[in-house]
This record gives sequence, C-alpha cells and structure tokens, in this order.
Amino acid sequence: MTKPFDVCIRGDGVVGRTLALLLARERLRVALVARPTPAAASADAPADVRAYALNGASRELLQTLRCWPETPFVTPVQEMHIWGDDGGKLDFSALSVAQEALAWIVEVPALEQQLIQAVRYQPHIEMVQAPVKAALSVVCEGKTSQSRQEFGVDWRIKPYPQKAIAARLQSDRPHGGVAREWFAGGDILALLPLAGITGNSVALVWSVSVERAEALEKLPPEEFCAALQAVFDPEVAQQVGTLRLISPRASWPLALATAGHWVGPGWALAGDAAHTVHPLAGQGLNLGLADAVCLAKVIAQREYWRALGDERLLRRYERARKADVAAMGAVTDGLHGLFAQTDGRWQALRNWGMKGFSRSGLLKDWITRQATGL
Ligand SMILES: Cc1cc2nc3c(=O)[nH]c(=O)nc-3n(C[C@H](O)[C@H](O)[C@H](O)COP(=O)(O)OP(=O)(O)OC[C@H]3O[C@@H](n4cnc5c(N)ncnc54)[C@H](O)[C@@H]3O)c2cc1C
Repeated sequence: MTKPFDVCIRGDGVVGRTLALLLARERLRVALVARPTPAAASADAPADVRAYALNGASRELLQTLRCWPETPFVTPVQEMHIWGDDGGKLDFSALSVAQEALAWIVEVPALEQQLIQAVRYQPHIEMVQAPVKAALSVVCEGKTSQSRQEFGVDWRIKPYPQKAIAARLQSDRPHGGVAREWFAGGDILALLPLAGITGNSVALVWSVSVERAEALEKLPPEEFCAALQAVFDPEVAQQVGTLRLISPRASWPLALATAGHWVGPGWALAGDAAHTVHPLAGQGLNLGLADAVCLAKVIAQREYWRALGDERLLRRYERARKADVAAMGAVTDGLHGLFAQTDGRWQALRNWGMKGFSRSGLLKDWITRQATGL
C-alpha cells in the first residue's frame, strides 16, 4: 500500500516548488499540484520576460537546494542608482558595505527550469493534477488563488491604479552591473542588468497608469523605446546607451494585498497567495521564499507528538512572517504614495528626503545591508 501524503502543496510556482524541496529534505511525502494546462496552451507560449531581483538570503536558499541558475542567467548588482523627480538621487554600492553584490538579477525562465529539474529528481515529491488528501495543505497558487475561498480566507486588497510593463532591452553600452530606477511623478521605471557583469541587456519594469500602460504596449518598438528614454536626462541617457526592444512586452496589474488569516486547521498560505506588494522594491518573491523557509523550519522543529496540520503549530509560522511582510507592504505602499503626489510641496519634500538620506552615511550603509537580506 502506498504511504499517504504528508503535505499537499497547491501551486507549482517558484514558492510552491521551493517549499516542496525543503519539505522533501525532511523526508515528508509531498504532493505538488500543478494547474492543468489547457490543451490550447502550447509549448510556443511566450516565456516570462521578467527577471527577479533576489537578495542574499534567497540566493543562499536556492544554492542550498542546487537550484541557483548559472551565469549568464544571473547578474550581480554592484551598484544601484535611484533618481527622484526634482534632483533627488540615491546611490548604493556593494563595495561600501563589503558585500559581493547588492542583489542578483535572475532570469525567471532559468530559475523555473532549475526548480522543475530538482523536483523531477526528488523521490519524495509527486506531481498531481488536483488536490489530494494530506495532513497539511499549503496554498501557493499566487495572487489569484482559488483555494483561498475554499478555506474561507478574507483577502484584503488595495489595487493600485497602475500596471507594470516588463520587457527585455538591448543597449549599445555594457551595464557594468548597475541597476537603475527612476521615480518620475507617479511612474516608476527600473532597468535591471542582465547577461552577466559584462552584459549589455537589461530587464525593464515600468509601472505606469493603466491607460498609459495600454497605450505604451501598443506603440511600435522604436516609439516605445523613445518614450522610455524620455524619462531620463541626457547625461544619464549616455550612461544607459541607446535601447532596443528585444522581447515582447507583457504587463501585470498591481496591488497591495494580504490575507486576513494565513493559517487554519490543516492549511496554510505562502507566497503571493498570502500577500502581494508593489514591485518597486523587487521584494515579492524574496518574501515568498522567506515564507517557505519559515514554514519548513516550523514543521521540522515541531514537537514529536504534534500533527502537521495542528493550527497552533501553523500559527508559529504566521506570527513569524506577518510582521515582516506588513513592514515591507508599508514601505512600498508609502513610497508609492509619496511619489504619486502631484503637489509641488510633496515633490520638494521627497527629493529633499532623498538627498538627506544619501548623506546619512552609517544609516544608509545599515539599510543597504538590510536590503541584501543577510
Ligand atoms: C512586473 C513584476 C516584477 C517583479 N519583480 C520582482 C523582483 O524583482 N523581485 C522579487 O522578489 N519579486 C518580484 N515580483 C514578485 C514575484 O513575481 C512574485 O512575488 C512571485 O512570482 C510569487 O511567487 P508564487 O510562487 O507565490 O506565485 P506565482 O508566481 O503566481 O505562482 C503560482 C503558481 O500556482 C499555479 N496555480 C494557480 N492556481 C492553481 C490551481 N488552482 N491549481 C494548481 N496550481 C495553480 C500557477 O500556475 C503558478 O504556477 C515581481 C512581480 C511583478 C508583477
């Protein structure tokens, strides 16, 4: 007779697969539910054009699981420059805090492939097509999860009137491991270095109003690049180089959201199924991976007599993670709100704040170290 499943993980995204691998290391028998692919969705569906900025903690985790992609799919960020909309500027450098990198830019399809391979060769994990009976069910279905409803979860959502456009661009200059971000009125534009430290392609994340996003997505490639380059001033434009679109454009609606309860008897939520934040700080997946680590640790350290689905046990996970996630939600929401203000006084205040922070020395170094996640 086959041994029953200990854990059923619903959702085979990066968080679901990572959690499955962590639990399998504890010799738990895991069922991993993949969304059934509609017959119409063929292998030539466009690949995800995004690249994630992952922190040192996420990198360490994925390296331990042997799922960290190789160069050129990973690019260390040596410096980060952030511009405000009235002369405000912030510069961060890995060297100033004696770190190897501020973050790593990881191409999404490469990361997903590593995780797919690792799961395939893990005998304690079985891929299934629908939820199965298990002592514990963990929902990792992302922000549009359907299982949340089944467990009666209250989903508190504040939609932003914005969409994030993502694409890949090629420059005629190497990026030198520099990530750049502009806060231009309500819009937020980020160019993340790709293809290794000597590469000259970048991943774009451009958060703009929903109407503007729809218009930008329809522009011919040259006009799209011209609109993009109009965001930065000529001196910076020289450093960035001339950009050319090398991928399709894709866009995502944005929201700040969190589940009222993350756990209940026999179930828990993790990753985007539990919380989403604005991508302006590149932290959504870092938070989701930290959920996976925390839940796996709570499970591994449980008392020998405690069942896996014991709500008291699962509350330890919720308590440990909720404050962290709420803090990141507040920071990203605060920054988004601050830069969305059109009044000139707010503009002066936010740019003055950026300059003051830039000169703050020790405080800036401390925050830089926190952001690396180690
Ligand atoms: C434009 C943009 C840029 C971003 N950049 C960054 C960044 O730089 N750094 C960062 O840390 N984060 C970033 N994020 C956030 C990041 O994308 C998410 O936090 C991350 O993808 C969440 O992973 P997940 O596994 O929880 O959910 P998802 O990636 O949504 O995966 C959920 C999985 O569950 C499956 N699923 C859904 N429903 C079912 C079902 N009923 N049954 C079975 N399976 C199901 C889906 O098919 C999918 O495979 C960005 C987000 C956006 C939109």
